Amino acid sequence: MNYIYSRVSSENKFYGNTDPFQLSEKYGTPLYVYNENVLRNRCRDLKGLISYSNFTVNFSPKANSNVELIKIAKSEGLRVDAMSPGEIHLNMLAGYKPEEILYISNNVNEDEFRFAIDAGVKISVDSVSQLEMFGRINPGGKVAFRVNPGVGAGHHAKVITAGQKTKFGIEMNSIPQVKRIIKEYSLKLIGINQHIGSLFMDGEAYLKSTTNILSVARQFDDLEFIDFGGGFGIPYKKQSGQSRLDLKDLGVKLSEVIHSWVKEYGKKIEFKIEPGRYIVAESGILLGQVNALKTNYNIKYIGTDLGFNVLMRPVMYDSHHDIEVYRGNDTPSSGEEQVTIVGNICETGDIIAKDRKLPEIFENDILGVLDSGAYGYSMSSNYNSRLRPAEVLIEADGNPRLIRRRDTLDDLVRNFIF
Ligand SMILES: *Cc1c(COP(=O)(O)O)cnc(C)c1O
Repeated sequence: MNYIYSRVSSENKFYGNTDPFQLSEKYGTPLYVYNENVLRNRCRDLKGLISYSNFTVNFSPKANSNVELIKIAKSEGLRVDAMSPGEIHLNMLAGYKPEEILYISNNVNEDEFRFAIDAGVKISVDSVSQLEMFGRINPGGKVAFRVNPGVGAGHHAKVITAGQKTKFGIEMNSIPQVKRIIKEYSLKLIGINQHIGSLFMDGEAYLKSTTNILSVARQFDDLEFIDFGGGFGIPYKKQSGQSRLDLKDLGVKLSEVIHSWVKEYGKKIEFKIEPGRYIVAESGILLGQVNALKTNYNIKYIGTDLGFNVLMRPVMYDSHHDIEVYRGNDTPSSGEEQVTIVGNICETGDIIAKDRKLPEIFENDILGVLDSGAYGYSMSSNYNSRLRPAEVLIEADGNPRLIRRRDTLDDLVRNFIF
């Protein structure tokens, strides 16, 4: 096999003892490939973020909820969040104990609250009305709430989850109502959390957002934890040299903030962060096959099996993913050309990479979509009645293991009642 354009995956020996052609022959395409070593390194980066002993990293599995990956995060000492009863279920399947799971609920019904209460997980509520519902169902219970600190951050309006234009969190003005409901239902407030948005590459907004949550937290005695949220970004443009988020700088500044707050509060309560993307994005590459080439009115299209049912981010958020090119034979590319890489879904918007300068691509080449480990499989669907892909893990010893099989036609009809 020839690695035509593959600096990023070559540098970290992403494919271990195998290569993209062997993998696509054995498991078919499209195929999500994860690298265990990369995943473990990212877990360790964030575990070492803060010099404060009572610090916890909660992995957010909505970025990737494959149980085998959650198990790896667990073995690195991470705790875990859940955004739904389904994620609570998967986390327990991965071996987490209920008290290690924080359910960050959003507009849930009573049954979903009951499910979480019965499971024994920690629960955070997202509005005054949900706090009241929780109090009615579970008077005297333990609860946390999500604050909206009024500052947001993120790579796209759809994923900025704090500030003045989002459904999330309880605004600063409503804190008196929170206090009233807590008293009315004899609730015990165990924590306050926030999540300001996804994919920041500069820690300033994250740091700034701690001021308001900490000032809210100061108004409650006897908290168990404060959770600053996720959103830690990764460089999606590695091929053009984009630098990494400066974790060291952010870590030092956050540590200072925490140490001085704790001194004032008088109790070494737990501090949490809840990263999803940072943990898993770079541990995944999506492989697809080139099935067709065409030029339509001066645009050269590379037709692949990478429809947006497989990776939704480019269509949903206009996201950029770097592309690598692998070839099964020795044919050289005759220079670079500008191409648009598209999938097999019947929509014009089905574009995975637009106007890219890449080495000449041929039919049967395999493409690698970098940094696809987060919000890749977890957002995939059966749109167009396409089958969701398989997932393979390159384990620490370099060998591949299938960790989810590809959908079959039977999966498509499983819920019909004939
Ligand atoms: C999605 C989400 C996260 C993880 O966000 P990333 O940008 O992937 O780090 C953390 N907390 C909450 C509440 C979320 O909804």
